Formats: sequence, C-alpha cells, structure tokens
Amino acid sequence: MDRDLDQNYQREIRRGGESAGQCQVAVIGAGLVGSLLAMLLARRGFKVDVFERRPDMRTEKIAAGRSINLAISTRGITALNRAGLSPSVLAHAVPMFGRMMHSKSGELTFQRYGKDNSEYINSISRSDLNKMLMSEAESTGNVQFHFHQKALGLDLARSSLTLLDEDKKETHTLGAEIVIGTDGSASKIRDEMCKLPGYEVSEERLDYGYKELVIPPGPEGQFLMEKNALHIWPRGTFMLIALPNFDGSFTCTLFLPYKGPVSFEKLTAVEAVRNFFAAEFGDAVALIPDLAENFVSAPLGHMDTIKCHPWNVEGQALLLGDAAHAIVPFFGQGANCGFEDLSILEDCIDEHLSRGGNLYIDQRRPKVGGDDVRRRLKEGSANWHQIFDELTRRRKVNCDAIADMAVENFTEMRDRVADPKFLLMKSVEKILEKEFPGQYRSRYSLVTFSNAPYKLALDAGVVCEEILNSLCKDISHAEEVDLKQAEKLINQKLAPLLQQYEPLLAH
Ligand code: FAD
Repeated sequence: MDRDLDQNYQREIRRGGESAGQCQVAVIGAGLVGSLLAMLLARRGFKVDVFERRPDMRTEKIAAGRSINLAISTRGITALNRAGLSPSVLAHAVPMFGRMMHSKSGELTFQRYGKDNSEYINSISRSDLNKMLMSEAESTGNVQFHFHQKALGLDLARSSLTLLDEDKKETHTLGAEIVIGTDGSASKIRDEMCKLPGYEVSEERLDYGYKELVIPPGPEGQFLMEKNALHIWPRGTFMLIALPNFDGSFTCTLFLPYKGPVSFEKLTAVEAVRNFFAAEFGDAVALIPDLAENFVSAPLGHMDTIKCHPWNVEGQALLLGDAAHAIVPFFGQGANCGFEDLSILEDCIDEHLSRGGNLYIDQRRPKVGGDDVRRRLKEGSANWHQIFDELTRRRKVNCDAIADMAVENFTEMRDRVADPKFLLMKSVEKILEKEFPGQYRSRYSLVTFSNAPYKLALDAGVVCEEILNSLCKDISHAEEVDLKQAEKLINQKLAPLLQQYEPLLAH
C-alpha cells in the first residue's frame, strides 16, 4: 500500500539507502510496540529496519521477558484492528470477565469487570503475541528484523546510529532518516535524547518487586481454577494474582515489598517460602508443583514509572511505548497504552495528509536525487516534525494520567478489594452501570473498555468516587441505593464530562 510515498522517490531513496548503509526508518526494539509499529509503517510503503538486542524469539528459546502473559483490552484491540490483526490475536486469548477473589480460607468472590459478559479483557501470552506481530510485519515485504543488534548510541547531528552486533562482538554505524525508539523502559534512545538541552526524564521505582510461578494444566489439559477470570489473593500489603493461559495453565505473580517483615528479603529459603504460601495462599499451594524451589530461583522483577518530555527530536527521532512512558502493571495497560500510541500516530499522519502535507523523509546525503528530490526531502523532515510534535502533545497528558492511575490501582488491588466499604461502593457502581448504561461510566470502564483519553478517565474517576461516597453514606447494602438521587448526581456531575467524548466512549 504505497499510497503515501511517491513511487519514484521511494525507488531513489532505497537505492541510495542500500548502497550507503542507510535506513529509511530505523526502529530500535522488536518488542510488542516496535513490531506493530513496523507493520503499520510498512503498510504505508516505508522500508523499515528493526534492530533488536535479543535473538529471534521465533527460532531461539530465550528467557521470558518481564511478564509471561498480559491482558489486552479495547485500546490494544483498536490498534490491532488498524493492522487487521485483532481476530487472529484474540483467537489465542482467554477472555476474563472479572476478578475472582480468594480469601485466606479459600472462599471465592467474583467481581465482574464490565456491565455484563460483553465487556471483558483478554489474557494472552506476551511472547506469542510478539512472535505473531513480528511475522505479520515481515509478511508486508517492507520490514527487515536484525537480531543481536544492541543500540549503543544515536548521533542526531549526523543522523546516525551505533549498534553492537552481539553475535560478532563488533560495533557498526548506520545512517537513518528517522529513528524510533521502542526499546522499552531502559531505553537507550531516550538516554541519548535526554543529553540534549530541554529534555527531561523522571524515573520512580516502586518499592515492590514481583516473581512469577506457573499453575500447569490438569491431566486432561483442563484449567484447575475458574478459566475466565483474573484471580486475586489480596492480603493487605501484598498480593498474588493469576491469569489464565491458552494452554490451560495460569501464570501467577506475587507482588511483595523488597524489604520489611513480609518481603522478598525474608523469602530466600525454601522452608520460609513454603510456610508463607501455606499460610497466605493455601488454595493455590496444591496447584503449583515445586513451588518453593521454583520461587527461590525465579528472577525478581522491578516496576518503574518513567515519564519524559519531549518524546521527539524534530522530525528525526521519536520515542514510543515503554521507552516514552513505562507504567506499573496494575491497570493492565502498559502494552495497551503503547499500542494506543500507534493509533494516535496513525491519526496524526492521516490528518497531516488530509491537510495536504506529505511524508517525504529528510535525506542529508546530497548524492541522492536532484534538486527537486532534495527540496522535497527537506519538506518531509518538517512534515514529520509536525506529526511528532502533535503526537507528543496529544499523548503526553494521557500517558501521565494512566501512569498515575496505575499506581493508584495498585493500592486499590492490594488494600481496598478486601475492605467492606470499598466492596459496597463497587457493588453500587455495578448497579449504576446497569441502571444508567452509557451515562454512568466508571474509571475502570473508561480505561479498559473505551478509547476515550486516559485523562478523561482520571477526571471522571474522581467524580465517580464523589458520587459513590455520597450514595453509600447512609446505606449498608447496595440494593438500598437511592436511584433517583444517583440519576441526579450523574446528570449534574458526570454527564458534562463524558459528553465531550461521546464517539470514543463505545468500544
Ligand atoms: P518492551 O516490551 O520492553 O520491548 C522493548 C524491546 O526492545 C525488547 O525486545 C528489548 O530486547 C529491546 N531493546 C531494549 N534495549 C535495546 C537496545 N539498546 N537495542 C536494541 N533493542 C533493545 N501491559 C498490558 O497492556 N497488560 C497487562 O496485563 C500487562 N501486564 C504486565 C505485567 C507485568 C508483571 C509487567 C512487568 C508488565 C505488564 N504489562 C502489561 C506491560 C507491558 O509488558 C509493556 O508495557 C509492554 O511490553 C511494552 O512494550 P514495548 O514494546 O514498549 O517494550
């Protein structure tokens, strides 16, 4: 689909590019965001080279990344739809309709996520999704993945990238007209950009880490707990969660402080781990073989919130995904948010084209093309500069909002899901969602089941909390809620906020 680039120009720049070790678009990092980005750009006719530090996960077995599986929801699906991929991705996902809470004595309580079974999130293997995205990107014919290639430096003055070939242990330098850093939370491209005056980054590490364990499928390949739920064992200062996998297994994640009376520093010996799990998560213990031994040897993961600004250097370099905005995983939105960056990039490109702009890329090598080509190439860089500025303007405020909500949701999942007042408010919220469909939208619903800006979800969440506090003040059972008063409050307080974003509220 070469609709955006002039054919002659493309031939010219590719010829110049190939002979001169020059990339048109260089994407750093073949994770979820980099792979989908490469595919979307390739579908517009760009030649994309993706440089990935690790080996090819489709052919070589590599250590699991930061999480074995993740939950994909509306924003992620919207971006996958743009690439025509959501049916094939969702065919490998397990729907989760709500949270299944496990008490210490093993009692189960189910809290639905949405208003009914039409609203759910999708548990999918991170590596399966990544492999699928890489193969789909390659199948466009315009994307080339280069593995064992670690980005070491970006020279913006020369438009060049330095890479270490980790196989050959050699460094080499490449020209690149546009560099997009999708190299995750420890981004090298971000480090390089932050050397420039006016560029800022803030990094905050949560004082909690995590370890993953697996509940394998039963003897007939069956799920050993409720399949269509995200399981949670909330225990005040710590919690265990489990997400179902397509093969009948569950991936369990224990979130625990690094230090303190109940912490990772206290769980280094097999015996201590055994006693801890038996006391806190009795119903899970029997389902996890070699629990204590596996736990002790499992890697300890860290969780960071990273905010930076700006995300681009003119039309030359851009950050997307975790490289631009890493968030803690408690809203299940990191990948969804990174995918949404790509939807908004696509919108910015389309709007730019509809205003008569073009997408030619700046090419500083004078030997490429004649004067006309050179003029258009310069124009191209200015065009990408506008697109990247606009993207950053639209995304920054929203990515900051989801970063803050994710930290807040951590305390909610950890502390409040076992608090009776909170549970009452959640039950009333469910009634309001049912009684006033489309009018009452919870923060969770706006984040998870809509494409409305995250900032709206943040603001609406504050209003929802006020409404719920007021309605729950004098009741002890959700059914006692005063629906007339609820309608009045929703119309007064929530409706004016939501109205502005009506088209984005549906999923
Ligand atoms: P990454 O996935 O980190 O990919 C970056 C890629 O860049 C990697 O392949 C890496 O090898 C490569 N790279 C790094 N440095 C270099 C370099 N110098 N040169 C070349 N290549 C490099 N998100 C959700 O949406 N839903 C969830 O339920 C969810 N659950 C999570 C649970 C946990 C425990 C964690 C930790 C995260 C979770 N996330 C979830 C977040 C999600 O995993 C990330 O947001 C997502 O993977 C980010 O994708 P990315 O492509 O931006 O970065």
